[in-house]
Amino acid sequence: MVDCEFCKIVAGDAPSSVVYQNDRTLAMMTLRPMIRGHILVIPKKHAASLSEMEYKTGGELFEAGMKIAEALRASEIESEGINFWLADGEAAGQEVFHVHLHVLPRSETDEVRLEGPRLDLDRSEMDSDAEIIKEQLNENKHEF
Ligand SMILES: [Zn+2]
Repeated sequence: MVDCEFCKIVAGDAPSSVVYQNDRTLAMMTLRPMIRGHILVIPKKHAASLSEMEYKTGGELFEAGMKIAEALRASEIESEGINFWLADGEAAGQEVFHVHLHVLPRSETDEVRLEGPRLDLDRSEMDSDAEIIKEQLNENKHEF
């Protein structure tokens, strides 16, 4: 078995504050919240990255995230808005290598910042990048 902090939680071998689970996904309060109500949704089956995970599982993570977003918005935890955030790879800020979808309640006045610089591209550059990605989609080798 992989030595994985999230797999230990799924197995019941590490403590967590679970908010939701079904056969394939689990949602819990994160240990290092950026804001009150910060939740992580994970697949129960280990996958270090998106490339190791079934497409269907991605849909299930998103569905669980939507349920949690609804619950947060209806709860007393401040959540005027919600961000979903998923870091795939170290360069994207992934720190735990078991896929996890962050669900972040937001308010107009919070200190959470995910914004970065914006590029100023013209249409031909956008079209060119769209072609590069479309070409790769046609050769998709996702094995699950
Ligand atoms: Zn794991």
